[in-house]
Amino acid sequence: MAKPMTAVQVLAAMKLWDVPYKQWPGWTTRGRDPEHGPFSDVHGLVIHHTGSDIGQSDDYLDFLATRGKPGLPGPLCNAATDMDGDLWLIAQGRANHAGEGSSATLNHVINEDYAGFKTELKPGPDNIDGNAAYYGNEVRYDGGQPMTAKQYAAVTRWAAAICHFHGWSALSIIGHREHTGRKPDPGSCPMNKFRTDVAALLKAGPPKATKPPVTPSPPKEDDMPLNDADKKWISDEIQRYAFWTQIYDLMMVDEKAAAQEAYEQEYAARKAAGATDVVAKAAAASKAAAIVQPAIAAMLKAQKEI
Ligand SMILES: [Zn+2]
Repeated sequence: MAKPMTAVQVLAAMKLWDVPYKQWPGWTTRGRDPEHGPFSDVHGLVIHHTGSDIGQSDDYLDFLATRGKPGLPGPLCNAATDMDGDLWLIAQGRANHAGEGSSATLNHVINEDYAGFKTELKPGPDNIDGNAAYYGNEVRYDGGQPMTAKQYAAVTRWAAAICHFHGWSALSIIGHREHTGRKPDPGSCPMNKFRTDVAALLKAGPPKATKPPVTPSPPKEDDMPLNDADKKWISDEIQRYAFWTQIYDLMMVDEKAAAQEAYEQEYAARKAAGATDVVAKAAAASKAAAIVQPAIAAMLKAQKEI
């Protein structure tokens, strides 16, 4: 059983995977009314196409998010991907995108037990509600030709971000036509290739993931002649740095990235200016610690207030 991602988790995942996302107003609280079915146990992702290259307008996004069609109100997807590569977040909650479909396909998705890197699934009869089980992405293209390169990059990274969050493989991604025999989408996008490309992204890992830099070791006597004040400063900074690397995993992606960048810039600048490795690392650690400590303090304070 996997709970659907919260809006905060979606945003963190989009940033972590460098997805060129945009937020359509209201997406964080948008979803189909609960009385139309649950959205509490998700298992996979469905890729769709809108069937039109023309529908790149804001009016079309409003149609997908809110208006919908007679008998099928919005939201009609969780995300939509434009030909220029923008990926719009449309709805955090349940969306009317998949409709009735095959329980045989859903079981293959849950068990990730099919030859999905070589072939596409043939759906069985429509007998389950796909909207309860899948996230959906409407790729805004005609489907008669391949997606644009930017569009394909955005939608594969979106899929990788969600699979990574839930710990799923790329076999948790299907095309709408694998869910139901009623549908042809996502057009000329072979889903075995799509899954293979997402699997490669997952193997490479998140592009924006930052690892704590290696903790510098205390200065050795033979590094260079250091006076006692220098040694104390280095040792203090290393301690401060060791503290924040311990709680590194609690930080938000942006703070990690900012700290990492500050560390690397300061280290490079100190080295360029002729500092020894240990002095450069201590100075870099000092900069990085100064960035993350206020954020950590705010986080701890917020936790106390909850
Ligand atoms: Zn579809």
